[in-house]
Amino acid sequence: MTMSQRAGLAVLLSAIVLGSVSAAGRTEAAEPVTRAASDLPVARDVRLAGDDTQTRFIVDLDKTIDIRAFTLANPYRVVIDMPQVAFQLPAKAGLSGRGLIKAFRFGLVMQGGSRMVIDLARPARIEKAFVLEAGNEQPARLVLELAATDRDAFLRTTALNNRSPEAPITRNEREDAKAASDPRPVIVIDPGHGGIDNGTRAPSGENEKVMVLAFALALRDKIETIGKYRVAMTRTDDTFIPLNERVRIARAHKASLFISIHADALVRRDPSAQGVAVYTLSERASDAAAARLAEAENRADVIAGLDLSAEPADVANILIDLAKRETKTFSVQFARTLINEVRNATRLHQNPMKSAGFRVLKAPDVPSVLVELGFVTNKEDVKALTSEAWRGRTADAVVQAIDAFFKTRLAGGHN
Ligand code: ZN
Repeated sequence: MTMSQRAGLAVLLSAIVLGSVSAAGRTEAAEPVTRAASDLPVARDVRLAGDDTQTRFIVDLDKTIDIRAFTLANPYRVVIDMPQVAFQLPAKAGLSGRGLIKAFRFGLVMQGGSRMVIDLARPARIEKAFVLEAGNEQPARLVLELAATDRDAFLRTTALNNRSPEAPITRNEREDAKAASDPRPVIVIDPGHGGIDNGTRAPSGENEKVMVLAFALALRDKIETIGKYRVAMTRTDDTFIPLNERVRIARAHKASLFISIHADALVRRDPSAQGVAVYTLSERASDAAAARLAEAENRADVIAGLDLSAEPADVANILIDLAKRETKTFSVQFARTLINEVRNATRLHQNPMKSAGFRVLKAPDVPSVLVELGFVTNKEDVKALTSEAWRGRTADAVVQAIDAFFKTRLAGGHN
């Protein structure tokens, strides 16, 4: 996680734990971090008004909340952080915009914290961001007013506002201590996406984040049943986890294997777009479809409103260079084993083994693969993904592959 990503989440965390700071800078009394779903503020409707010089964004709420709004560059975005909110907005809310607003997303970014991320059509400045109390037969409202600006002014304001102090994230640290006394190999399972980031979406409405979590949990249970390995999850609920944080979790656990679980979507007409495919990390993508997929999966942080500008662009390449050849060999070996086992349980993609520059596979010392369980754009695949029987059968095959992989590793004198 970069400093600014950390800072963004840290500010959000402190806003929630210590009492929230409103857009106007007022400090409110602390609220409990976890609350029953029925206690959560509810966002019921959203409206856009104005044109491409001034745009107003209004969200109806059932009670007032504290918010913090800020801009992010590359691409131009406005992020509104708030305590956890139950979003009950119309089904198509955010898919299209108006004026300065191209589209927007909303959802959980961490336990107790929700976020709205607005994609801007062009650079804009936040004129006002506040929450109005209910009155005059109107509900409480979140109001954001945007005005067009130029790129230089946008970048200047963005840089000034995002100089937040860095604070450590303590999530999952307790796990590290527990690991020290347990000699079993650790397998980290990484259900893709989560929270504000839905991942791909089937035409019938199922989200990737939900389907891959169901599979990951089934896989965890199967692995734990055999007792030979310790399992750590990057998420067990509908929470957003930044890509670098997923890698950090794998490294913090000194994982022997990292398995990221996803479901692809077909772009344009591709007759081979069905079945399971397994990806490993490579500097150059094995083909155009793999490159396109890695690009889509690597967008998760942008979707969730994280600031990637502070991260040097060449970090990825340095990490690849540093990666031990062994890690890469093991990753490819596991991918191969996995495909051999999975082919007995379900159908494979026409070309099931590929590679590309997935950010989530970049732990230099943890053999890592990314499994695309199928295509959410393929009816048969969605049927499989939402079937408990299919999940069980396929998870069994993955467990077989894990067992075979560790047997070979131990026999080969590695550990
Ligand atoms: Zn995905």
